[in-house]
Amino acid sequence: MTLPKFKKIEINRYKPGKSKILRIRKVIKLSANESALGTSKKALKVLLKKNNIFKYPDNESTNLRIKIAKNFSLDEQKIICGSGSDEVIQILCQLFLEPGDEVIVPEYSFLMYRIYSKISGAKVKFAKEKNFKVSIKNILKNVTKFTKIVFIANPNNPTGTYLTKKELILLRKKLRSNILLVLDDAYVEYVKHLDYSSALKLFKGKENVFILRTFSKIYGLAALRVGWGYGSRKIIKAMNNIKPPFNVNKLAQIAAIKSLEDKNFLKKSVAHNIIWGNKIKNQLNKYDISTNKVNTNFLLLNFNNCKFSSKYVKTKLEKKGIILRSMESYNIKNCLRLTIGNVSENKKLILNLKRIFSKK
Ligand SMILES: *Cc1c(COP(=O)(O)O)cnc(C)c1O
Repeated sequence: MTLPKFKKIEINRYKPGKSKILRIRKVIKLSANESALGTSKKALKVLLKKNNIFKYPDNESTNLRIKIAKNFSLDEQKIICGSGSDEVIQILCQLFLEPGDEVIVPEYSFLMYRIYSKISGAKVKFAKEKNFKVSIKNILKNVTKFTKIVFIANPNNPTGTYLTKKELILLRKKLRSNILLVLDDAYVEYVKHLDYSSALKLFKGKENVFILRTFSKIYGLAALRVGWGYGSRKIIKAMNNIKPPFNVNKLAQIAAIKSLEDKNFLKKSVAHNIIWGNKIKNQLNKYDISTNKVNTNFLLLNFNNCKFSSKYVKTKLEKKGIILRSMESYNIKNCLRLTIGNVSENKKLILNLKRIFSKK
């Protein structure tokens, strides 16, 4: 028999945050930046209705796009919804990239940018960061005449740091105007610092900026897979031409609409994150585990000054059913990423850290 020939694509497969531990039934999963407070009750309620799921969903997610447009004062024709913002990244890469093109990503960045770019045949260049923060200078250094897209998550995952308003404006100004700047605002709702601004606020009218948002994080709809992209009408139209039909399922569309209406849930989630993020950060600092400021619903824990290694602490916590994200696939040494959990999860984390560090 002959094996039909397929493409060999040089990528490391995406490994999701671990969610299971052998022999432990009830785990505390703090490895995937999911919502601490679960899902809005309003969104959950609408899922229980008779939603006629035997019918195909709306191909263009029209009602959801109208809702998003109203909520953020946007033109709904400049919005595309996807099965997670992940799919929007995939469609963007399919639309823009071909062999010979180059893409720039920060060295520690969301893995899907490099994966979809490589699948499209583009070369991925990694811009060095400075103290785990995206460096505009190093991004600009990597620009060549082949550069097509620069991807930046702001705040960045997995580092948790962000570029300020000023830095973003400067980057767009210095970047050649026919390079698409993709700004992924997956964690925008959590950031309350005055020198930070959402990409929508800064670049709503710019044709060479494309913005990504998701319902997987603060809105607590990760399992339904729904996110959206915002760009020029021409780009959105071209993306719609190549997107898979019915790409956002019906339950995702209606739950996303309801979750946008539940402002109270959003407010509570942000407040919870700031309170617990800082509590946990202070606790970690006592053990000489350093972290960034609380900018998102996760912290990057650096063990370089700590008496234990990241691996040791990770293993010890897992024995108690608490899962943190290994940073191996991101190539960050001696670090772990921790998602802020709910009250009981956070208390258990703090208690178990105390136990680990009380040993001599
Ligand atoms: C979690 C995350 C996403 C969200 O992906 P979905 O496909 O919408 O679930 C996108 N970008 C970044 C940087 C993320 O951390």
